[in-house]
Amino acid sequence: MMKRILISIPAYSEADNVVPLYNALKEGLKPVWAKYDFEFLYINDGSKDDTVAQVRSLMETAPEVSLLDLSRNYGKEIAMTAGFDYFHHDAMVTIDADLQMPVSTIVDMINLWEQGYEDVYAKRNKRMGESWLKKATSRWFYKTLQSVSHAPVVADAGDFRLLDKKVVAAICQLRESERYTKGLYSWVGFKKAQVEFDALPRLHGQTKWNFRKLFGLAMQGITSYTTAPLKVSTYSGFAISLAAFIYLLYVLIKTLLYGSDTSGFPTLVILILFIGGVQLISIGILGEYLGRIFNETKQRPLYFIEDIYHRSLDDNSAEE
Ligand code: UDP
Ligand code: MG
Repeated sequence: MMKRILISIPAYSEADNVVPLYNALKEGLKPVWAKYDFEFLYINDGSKDDTVAQVRSLMETAPEVSLLDLSRNYGKEIAMTAGFDYFHHDAMVTIDADLQMPVSTIVDMINLWEQGYEDVYAKRNKRMGESWLKKATSRWFYKTLQSVSHAPVVADAGDFRLLDKKVVAAICQLRESERYTKGLYSWVGFKKAQVEFDALPRLHGQTKWNFRKLFGLAMQGITSYTTAPLKVSTYSGFAISLAAFIYLLYVLIKTLLYGSDTSGFPTLVILILFIGGVQLISIGILGEYLGRIFNETKQRPLYFIEDIYHRSLDDNSAEE
């Protein structure tokens, strides 16, 4: 039997990209088309446009396409999880719907997979069509994340990767609702290989990321991946206490030797403000973790499925 490969495509309001992506996949996968049994799974993440209708009409002529329709917009991380859960193939590739990732790279990934690699990730060479700010913040973010964590996250390598069924099975067992999937890939381990690609500008529509969302993802990445920030407040607490103690000795000795006058008001204000700020930040960090613990303890299902449209499901219903 041919090995089965799932191409998982999270799509949020990507109606104009549905058919172009399908065509690009057919074209780009030509070199390996005869060797594998491909399924293209569009995961509709609560789109506001007619993405579902586009996929449904595509399915009339494209037997390799299926559709997983989620009950609302859950965000890309959860949409990808739905793809992992749906998976029953030999390998899967997650790719964005906006054609920013060249499909031909998948062929390179498959070759490495055949050589025994289980997590073949694609690393961006250049970031075309992205603002200077986004590039700079993402570089800064990866630097920070790498410096505080034990299982390093590869910079500029995203969700565009081929996973062997072993890796998918492992990730499926991680049911945290506050997901940072890039951290999960590196946490589960397995044999990794790298391919490079040049990112292209989006074909249609706009990016769903704005600065606020990216900052949120960065916070999520850090707090769901490492407890290092909690240590920061502990260490800064120690450092400040030490400094305060030294200053205390200085003030005490000075007062004993020279007596006291009522000066020192600016010092007092600065100290109160400074300590206050440090305390607020520390409480904030605690709060970030507490909030995540709160969300995790609810143990909710990660998502709900509105409908699944699948070739063999359709066949079944035709038989009944
Ligand atoms: N996406 C999604 N749910 C969301 C936001 C985005 O499934 O809530 C999908 C989107 O349709 C695309 C991929 O995730 O296929 C990447 O999104 P986008 O292109 O907006 O991000 P960028 O490439 O700018 O990082
Ligand atoms: Mg994009």
